[in-house]
Amino acid sequence: MLTDESFLRYQRQVQLPEIGEQGQQALQQARVLIIGAGGLGAPAALYLAAAGVGSLVIADGDKVERSNLQRQIIYRDDNQGESKAQAAVTQVKALNPLIRARAVTARLAKLQLAMEISLADVVLDCTDNFASRHAINQACFEHGKRLISAAAIRWQGQLMSFDFRTRQGPCYHCLFPNGEMKAPQNCSETGIAGPVVGIMGTFQALQAVKAITDSGDLCVRQFRQFDGLSLQWQQFALPANPQCPVCSKES
Ligand SMILES: [Zn+2]
Repeated sequence: MLTDESFLRYQRQVQLPEIGEQGQQALQQARVLIIGAGGLGAPAALYLAAAGVGSLVIADGDKVERSNLQRQIIYRDDNQGESKAQAAVTQVKALNPLIRARAVTARLAKLQLAMEISLADVVLDCTDNFASRHAINQACFEHGKRLISAAAIRWQGQLMSFDFRTRQGPCYHCLFPNGEMKAPQNCSETGIAGPVVGIMGTFQALQAVKAITDSGDLCVRQFRQFDGLSLQWQQFALPANPQCPVCSKES
């Protein structure tokens, strides 16, 4: 049963037949790990806090810089110089005092990454580099988690969702094998339209809500690309690579 306070707060989504009181309770019992509190993590954290995800863990080792404020909408001007993870946690708690939120103020790697992923129900990859993405993909696969991954540069965004609970591919490595890693591109080098990265982070929040409430289709074998200039989406099938060192049983 939802409390009166919860019912009033979440009424508009509880009204959705796909969510209902049961889905709301699932959200309140869920733990979501958001790795990277930048342009993707900012809207994702806000929407998931607003939706009542009971436990949010926000990990980022960086501090808020002036050049972040053009798109990382969870921060305020006076957050400059503060830990992103801590500032983001303060904001989500201010938005929804019914949830718990914890900051990890170091860049997640190795054992700590594995531990945080093992504790999460759903993981959002909101990072901006290939090394982190591959490490997150591998740990999510090993721990059988659902992973919602997005990226954005210039006017373009990408979205992929993986469900590793069945220990099956495809995975992020199938699409971007290590051998084909180009020089890392991120928005400090290429530029980024703020609303485009916001759209992609918002899609990650949507996918997480769907995953937790078991609503709709996570589109796990699809790679979607959004172009902000034309408003066109392109969709590609994402086959598992039978030689993938992460998700292939033969390897
Ligand atoms: Zn794979």
